[in-house]
Amino acid sequence: MKSGVLARYRDFLPITERTPLITLNEGDTPLIRAERLSEAWGVPHLYFKFEGANPTGSFKDRGMVMAVANALENGARAVICASTGNTSAAAAAYAARTGLDAIVVVPGGKIALGKLAQALIYGAKVLAVNGSFDDALRLVRALHEQYDVALVNSINPYRIEGQTTAAYEIVDVLGDAPDVVCLPVGNAGNITAYWEGFKRYHEAQRATQLPRMFGFQAAGAAPIVHGKVVEQPETVATAIRIGNPASWRRAVQARDESGGRIEAVTDEEILAAQRLLAAYEGIFCEPASAASVAGLRRALDEGWLTGQERIVCVLTGHGLKDPDTAIANSGAVIPIEATLDDAVRALGWQ
Ligand SMILES: *Cc1c(COP(=O)(O)O)cnc(C)c1O
Repeated sequence: MKSGVLARYRDFLPITERTPLITLNEGDTPLIRAERLSEAWGVPHLYFKFEGANPTGSFKDRGMVMAVANALENGARAVICASTGNTSAAAAAYAARTGLDAIVVVPGGKIALGKLAQALIYGAKVLAVNGSFDDALRLVRALHEQYDVALVNSINPYRIEGQTTAAYEIVDVLGDAPDVVCLPVGNAGNITAYWEGFKRYHEAQRATQLPRMFGFQAAGAAPIVHGKVVEQPETVATAIRIGNPASWRRAVQARDESGGRIEAVTDEEILAAQRLLAAYEGIFCEPASAASVAGLRRALDEGWLTGQERIVCVLTGHGLKDPDTAIANSGAVIPIEATLDDAVRALGWQ
């Protein structure tokens, strides 16, 4: 199999003879069948699309490889983006890979540790603004308009194009589209891309059906659910802490065309789902990703789904991205002396 999403899915992507087929072997991420969670929840046909297995640990690599390839095709020497973290990691990695400069603008103090480490070690210039993601995006747009630097935020249409490849992979593995796809919604580019991808594959007769798209926002950052901009979005799931989604309109379109829903889940539900996935399935995803599973739980409780559907939950990013939240969300370590007595007592075996 060809490596990387550009080579593998070039017929479905905006690729010309001049587009460099760059890659870090992104994509081809595992579609993991649920075991113990299926049992516990009575959901026999549940799968996790584990996007944390991408080279920089999130699905952002799919869109970034396409956007950077396009920037190179157009002679760019630098790329710039605003980011809650994962976009900056992906931009910095693909820029490093292809010899471009990368500039990333992040909301100060609100970026998960792993993501910041990535942007820095890949050699990007990292600017932390005193403000929100939306402030960072405004600034980046202004820099892009006045200086010669390619914008690789999700408002860049090539990002969404690259992200359609996740939908193709799901169909290629399952042999058809699933009945339902659950995923977190922040800037809403991903739900837009999945829906576009499923429609394209359906038109090309690679799939006989289309899934219903179920998107989940965090309760403190749920502009689409409430139909209005959230000035001060708040949630532990930093990757979806977005108050004014760039792809708002197209996400609503994906919801309505597919007969799906966009709903909110609380931080407590998100953290419970993150723990459950790790402890029941051995899958460690970041909090934003767990919103898809928290959302599935809610959909079952509310009767939006029966549980008999073939369901794919998209786990958008790796848990190691945000070690601080994971540690705060789990049990404490037990300090002991290095003696059998102490160990046995600590384990409660005595
Ligand atoms: C970017 C991101 C999201 C949100 O995706 P959108 O396309 O902005 O809706 C969710 N989870 C993770 C891990 C992300 O990096």
